[in-house]
Amino acid sequence: MSENPYAPRNPLDAYPQPPFPEQKQPEPGLTFEMDPVPDHGEASYIGHGRLQGRRALITGADSGIGRAVAIAFAREGADIALVYLSEEQTDAESTAALVTEAGRTAVLLPGDISDESFCGTAVTDAASQLGGLDLLIMVAGDMQTVDGIGDFTTEVLDKTLRTNVHSLFWLTKAALEHFEPGAAIITTSSIQGFQPSPELVEYAVSKAGIVNFTRAMAEQLAERGIRVNGVAPGPFWTPLQPSSVPLDKLTSFGEQTPFKRPGQPAELASTYVYLASQEASYTSGETIIVNGGQAGH
Ligand code: NAD
Ligand code: MG
Repeated sequence: MSENPYAPRNPLDAYPQPPFPEQKQPEPGLTFEMDPVPDHGEASYIGHGRLQGRRALITGADSGIGRAVAIAFAREGADIALVYLSEEQTDAESTAALVTEAGRTAVLLPGDISDESFCGTAVTDAASQLGGLDLLIMVAGDMQTVDGIGDFTTEVLDKTLRTNVHSLFWLTKAALEHFEPGAAIITTSSIQGFQPSPELVEYAVSKAGIVNFTRAMAEQLAERGIRVNGVAPGPFWTPLQPSSVPLDKLTSFGEQTPFKRPGQPAELASTYVYLASQEASYTSGETIIVNGGQAGH
């Protein structure tokens, strides 16, 4: 990491490039087992008070993109409620430590967002422990590789949709009970929502659905003064990958992009900060694609 994080760097070699060492993890995957360990902006993100005093619930905040968002939001002045699966307690505690090091409050809320009642409880607990809620940042997602329609199962489709799509409705409905005008919602789609891979149909369907959830909910909530936007990442180096993609795809992960490498979570956090902050006051219904220079979506 250069001393000045704002110094220009060549995007081609600014971060680790493939080939990556072979590695496999059971779902949901843990950060410290990744080689190389992802960069979440621990040493580089500098806050500027852009989210001072905001209270944010972030799903999937334990690891990957969610951890980078939690670090950035905390350094921008927000208190954070972290939602994650109970198997990820060690990752969640590491993220929470970074939030408290930034001088902000971290509330740990383990549970399964594919369960409607948990989504309601998580929002209520976040609002009561943070003293209110201004930001709902939905980063958590489930991705399963299914080789072909012959291997299709209703169970995988249900799990994917309940985690990636149903949860957005449940969490949003609950959050609206606490939101005031000026609050904001951010969803996390994927390049798969625009350019689906054949072995990721269930996931791609869910991620395309998230784009339309974002558009329609933005129109619905505009009259309440609430903005809704999305982020669609291309390939990012996170525990989602070694726990869900085949080994050959993992070792060459990100190679297909013009920058010839995956993004690091640190390279995405400021997109979420921008959409959450007052700087995006006239932006709603949009999904920002961050995809290492790949065009054509
Ligand atoms: P990640 O594994 O670090 O984060 C995903 C998180 O989702 C997990 O940490 C877990 O806490 C949470 N999660 C999954 N199922 C859950 C459930 N049922 N209940 C509660 N939490 C649950 O990986 P990531 O890459 O940082 O993923 C974050 C988001 O980015 C996901 O929505 C993913 O689909 C999306 N995304 C990732 C990539 C990529 O290449 N990494 C690309 C496009 C989109
Ligand atoms: Mg995780």
